[in-house]
Amino acid sequence: MHWYKADLHIHSVLSPCGSLEMGPRAVLSTAKQKNIDLLAITDHNSAANLPAFAALATEYEIVLIPGLEVQSAEEIHTLVFFHDMKSCQAFSRELYDSLLPVKNEPDFFGDQVVIDSEENILRYEEKALINSSRWNFEQLLGKINSAGGFALPAHVDAHSYSIISQLGFIPESKDIVALGITAKCDVNDLYKKIPGLKDFCLIRNSDAHYLKDIGSGTTEFYLKEPTLHEIILACKQKGDRYIKI
Ligand SMILES: [Zn+2]
Ligand SMILES: [Zn+2]
Repeated sequence: MHWYKADLHIHSVLSPCGSLEMGPRAVLSTAKQKNIDLLAITDHNSAANLPAFAALATEYEIVLIPGLEVQSAEEIHTLVFFHDMKSCQAFSRELYDSLLPVKNEPDFFGDQVVIDSEENILRYEEKALINSSRWNFEQLLGKINSAGGFALPAHVDAHSYSIISQLGFIPESKDIVALGITAKCDVNDLYKKIPGLKDFCLIRNSDAHYLKDIGSGTTEFYLKEPTLHEIILACKQKGDRYIKI
């Protein structure tokens, strides 16, 4: 068993709000400096930049958990993680078709850049990734379940785009065992405001859009090995696995 430091919510250059400095080498080397072992690139509604990061992750001795950040019809942000890249890409393609057919406005939102591992620009994504999917939250949970993914409603303590800000409660579902919190979240304060959150495992991440923010919010996992399977078992408090936020 080992402790692994994780930051499972980071945006790349593909996210319109993500800085153009968020390329694979810069992100991975910054994460390495912050002693991060487990990292997830979670762009808005797309996993198109994951191959570029996957190609370099082992060079930096960092384990990349395939994932993305979905915006449902209610404007709830949910991180979705997968055991393998293939399932993640298949889910990303299905999600893409469910996005509202709105074009990105680069001058207003920023460019959405798909790159390779050496930061060559492969294409500009033209559909606005910052928009919502037509799937509502319940439908999304069903899609995640059938795709073999793991749902982590993102930044539940945030005042916008969180399940609490949009619904005001956590819907009862066997598919929600953990919740994401922001880097600055005061957990005692959060429990005072919403005692029901004590029933869930909390995972703190940075939600970095700039290099300087990588590792500003992390979670440490005590696991047999650095895999999503083990993270899920830790969230479900199985065996001698622990989580420290
Ligand atoms: Zn978000
Ligand atoms: Zn985010």
